[in-house]
Amino acid sequence: MSNMNEERVLSVHHWTDTLFSFRTTRDPSFRFRNGEFTMIGLKVGEKPLLRAYSIVSANYEEELEFFSIKVQDGPLTSRLQHLKVGDPIIVSRKATGTLVLDNVTSGRNLYLIGTGTGLAPFLSIIKDPETYERFERVVLVHGCRTVKELAYGDMIAETLPRDELIGELLSEKLIYYPTVTREPFRNSGRVTDLMTSGKLFTDAGIAPIEQAHDRVMLCGSPAMLVDLRVLLDGMGFVEGNHGEPGDFVIEKAFVEK
Ligand SMILES: Cc1cc2nc3c(=O)[nH]c(=O)nc-3n(C[C@H](O)[C@H](O)[C@H](O)COP(=O)(O)OP(=O)(O)OC[C@H]3O[C@@H](n4cnc5c(N)ncnc54)[C@H](O)[C@@H]3O)c2cc1C
Repeated sequence: MSNMNEERVLSVHHWTDTLFSFRTTRDPSFRFRNGEFTMIGLKVGEKPLLRAYSIVSANYEEELEFFSIKVQDGPLTSRLQHLKVGDPIIVSRKATGTLVLDNVTSGRNLYLIGTGTGLAPFLSIIKDPETYERFERVVLVHGCRTVKELAYGDMIAETLPRDELIGELLSEKLIYYPTVTREPFRNSGRVTDLMTSGKLFTDAGIAPIEQAHDRVMLCGSPAMLVDLRVLLDGMGFVEGNHGEPGDFVIEKAFVEK
């Protein structure tokens, strides 16, 4: 497994029955761009069992962090959810992905729209000083079914604004907009509906989204991505990729099997 490093688990945090996060050691030679994903997993017998995971920690941090679903019968996560401090974990030496700043052109507001574990890639992007150099406002929308599933809310709203490196920039420019669909909360409803009705922009106190000025990154369920792609296409947004930066970029938070 020369293309893999073996790391050690440093801490584990269970958010709900179905969501948890963990931090691991980081081989100093492992390089990635904020927003990318890598392959991680466990040895099952002699074979590695690997899955794609977005990297939550920023590329300048000494440790790696991941945010994970627990799928009851999932080959990897039925095992991964039992991780303990000190356990080994396999991490690929390579990272890739479309949700990187290089793939969108500069603009006024940058929308980072994630549902469920689709929040993960944006947690590294909001810790990147370049994000705030390139955009006037950064709008992080996290959609979940229940309030408990809004993981990392305190880190985004309380801890990061006091961070030595990006605290000041983040406090000035980041708008955090958590929303839930299945219970009462200060913001509720599906992201697509909040954008179509304009409620998101009114609540956030910003001008409505426009192709001429704004850029978007999307990470969520295949169904959510279909809906939002239709919405953005209809407004004239052009998709970016590795060859050519565009107005928006998309990554699936998982693949339906
Ligand atoms: C580019 C990319 C990045 C990813 N990043 C992450 C990440 O940061 N965190 C993460 O938990 N997963 C992520 N995934 C999904 C991950 O690769 C695995 O599918 C997941 O860990 C479950 O693995 P498993 O072997 O237990 O079950 P699998 O056999 O892989 O999945 C079983 C089923 O569970 C459902 N499912 C899988 N993952 C999720 C999820 N994240 N949210 C909701 N339903 C899901 C799907 O219906 C899937 O068909 C990513 C996938 C891709 C393609």
